[in-house]
Amino acid sequence: MSESSRLYGEAQRVLVGGVNSPVRAAIKPYPFFVKEGKGPYLFTVDGYRLIDYVLGYGPLILGHSPEPVVKQVMEHLGKGWLYGAPTEVEVALAKKIVVHFPSIKKVRFVNSGGEAVSAAIRLARGYTKRRKILKFEGCYHGAIDYVLVKAGSAAAHFGTPSSAGVPEDVAKLTLVAKYNDLDSVEGIMRNEGNDVAAIIVEPVMANYGVIPPREGFLKGLREIADKYGALLILDEVVTGYRLGLGGAQRYYGVSADITTLGKIIGGGFPVGAVGARDEIMELLSPKGPVFNAGTFNGHPISMVAGLATIEVLETTNAYDIAINASRRLAEGLNDILSRLGIDHVINWVPTMLQVFFTRGEVIDHETASKSNAKQYLKLHEELLKRGIFIAPSQFEAVFTSSSHTTEIIEETLRHMEDAAKVLKQ
Ligand code: PLP
Repeated sequence: MSESSRLYGEAQRVLVGGVNSPVRAAIKPYPFFVKEGKGPYLFTVDGYRLIDYVLGYGPLILGHSPEPVVKQVMEHLGKGWLYGAPTEVEVALAKKIVVHFPSIKKVRFVNSGGEAVSAAIRLARGYTKRRKILKFEGCYHGAIDYVLVKAGSAAAHFGTPSSAGVPEDVAKLTLVAKYNDLDSVEGIMRNEGNDVAAIIVEPVMANYGVIPPREGFLKGLREIADKYGALLILDEVVTGYRLGLGGAQRYYGVSADITTLGKIIGGGFPVGAVGARDEIMELLSPKGPVFNAGTFNGHPISMVAGLATIEVLETTNAYDIAINASRRLAEGLNDILSRLGIDHVINWVPTMLQVFFTRGEVIDHETASKSNAKQYLKLHEELLKRGIFIAPSQFEAVFTSSSHTTEIIEETLRHMEDAAKVLKQ
């Protein structure tokens, strides 16, 4: 019996489904347990080396345990790590965010993307004095009640896009539109717009595979939000610092009223952030009546790791490497599947991609759902056998990092070719 299998047996006795976050249980017949991560590699307790394209589901844009982050974190650990009082490093990280995101003038750090979204929605409601929010089918914004309605990511993978335990009274305040379809948004807003506090969207849908916004979609949302006096929340938990220093807002030239961040800004340590212009942010406690607090908010180690990560992104060619890696991977996989005559669509944005086994475009939840998820799972399995780790669910993204050098990508593509040949059989 492998060590992972033994550990999974033990885990199932004390952890629900043997895991602490559902998608981890999607690896069959059992999840591999990890011993170590270094650069582009994960090392399992069974002695395997895997090239990692999951990267902790997005945060590790520099790969595993990058030297500058390790150095800063180690240095800080010696000084203690929780004070219940402010630190210089949270100011430094907030300053970076304010420079990179012109729509943000003030920041509040929390501990996860979900907490950031929760704070953003409360702020939007406090600011507009309205009750409802509008989200998009297939978008995932964290495991919180307001947005667990027709959600993507693990919620979709395990067939529970709308969770049990969310009271109907809460769910009915969440309106759901179709991604990349401004008419569906306008239609809902025409009827309910005067009670909609915010439109919340993933600027690139990254939790139903990867689905980029169509030309004009985000700008259209900006206009509709303004027309009806609702706020636009851009959930940049994935895209922030992944599409580049200014996130999706700079990449697509659109500006949020409220931005949520997470993942990369903690360098792989737990983090979330909400940011907006002063008028909105100053409604937050201690300045205003919208409550937010947290024992671990602005945790010094997360702040140090996030700051060190952003400094590397600012001062090196890390983005060039990570972007080239994602582009070459998308092109290479496209070539392989085309040569083998396997129907497929590959959606790409800088440092992220996903393959769908379907024909035609994948532009929303409906077209993504037509993808042959079983074939995707088979690809995942065949790749895993060959030492390549992509997410076990079609409803996640393939991420690249600055540790994915040309050699690593070419090695991956060789294995992808072999794995794809098995799909063809
Ligand atoms: N928003 C988006 C777009 C996400 O992808 C996620 C998580 O994957 C979240 C919010 C929630 O973040 P967290 O898992 O840190 O709570």
